[in-house]
Amino acid sequence: MHERLRVGVDLGGTKIEAAVVRVRPEAPEVLARVRVPTEADAGYEHVVARVARILGEVEREAGVDALPVGVGMPGGLTHRGPDGAHVEAPLVKNSNTTCLNGRPFRRDVLVAAARPIAFANDANCFAVAEATWGAARGADVAFGVIMGTGVGGGVVIARGGRPHAWDGAQGIAGEFGHVVLDAERGPACYCGRRGCVETYLAGPAIERAYAARSGLARALPEIAARVAEDRHARETIDEALELFGRALATVIDVLDPEVVVLGGGVSNLDALYDRGVDAVARWVFNDELRTRIVRHALGDSAGVFGAALLP
Ligand SMILES: [Zn+2]
Repeated sequence: MHERLRVGVDLGGTKIEAAVVRVRPEAPEVLARVRVPTEADAGYEHVVARVARILGEVEREAGVDALPVGVGMPGGLTHRGPDGAHVEAPLVKNSNTTCLNGRPFRRDVLVAAARPIAFANDANCFAVAEATWGAARGADVAFGVIMGTGVGGGVVIARGGRPHAWDGAQGIAGEFGHVVLDAERGPACYCGRRGCVETYLAGPAIERAYAARSGLARALPEIAARVAEDRHARETIDEALELFGRALATVIDVLDPEVVVLGGGVSNLDALYDRGVDAVARWVFNDELRTRIVRHALGDSAGVFGAALLP
């Protein structure tokens, strides 16, 4: 890796973050950073325009221009149109920013920005950044999980001494958030099924489970802080840890990674790293659990760092 300047963009459901990043082997350096709300409610064209605009804004902030750009975004791609026919410009699929689904987002951002841009799944960007500079550094095989407003995952495999995201044959590798845990009785998911991992382990899902028990709306950090005195909080967190164990054990059974690195707001739950790990160990198909399950090391910046590694 040479010393290189890149623009990394992390397109999320609630905010778009862009950074001018100097990509260095030892650690990334941020020269400028811009954050704006995604405002997905304002519609698809609005999100396209915001992503195109933020590139110039962050470059002006850093006093540079025409840098290579990488964008990490939720979801994957398909060439299958609504009628099943092949379409030339790939359409977004599986995005929890649902206004992007079925739309040729990459083409439209390229046209709006009028410059070359590399795109990838946001969880893959997170996983590659953590494997390059963060908590999964040095692993030959790592799995990155983002548990935030949704649940996503990315598989990273080292090749030639550098971590690379494994997209898979259909671009769904690591999409662990939509593994179904209870198809009959589970909560409804935006993907059309019931009982997906995301409907139990995303931050809003855990908050809904608490509200259903207690009748009270509380944010996840508050729920976690109340487990000693609040039976509903304790049951909610216990259930989340148990489902985390079952769900992650299936990934470990298949992939057997050296490291699983957790990101997103839910990854701040301290209990994941002791009782959550114990639950994984109970469910994994082995008499011991040697996979390290660790908290992210790059904070909120993993997304933009991983995107900066794309071009
Ligand atoms: Zn789903």
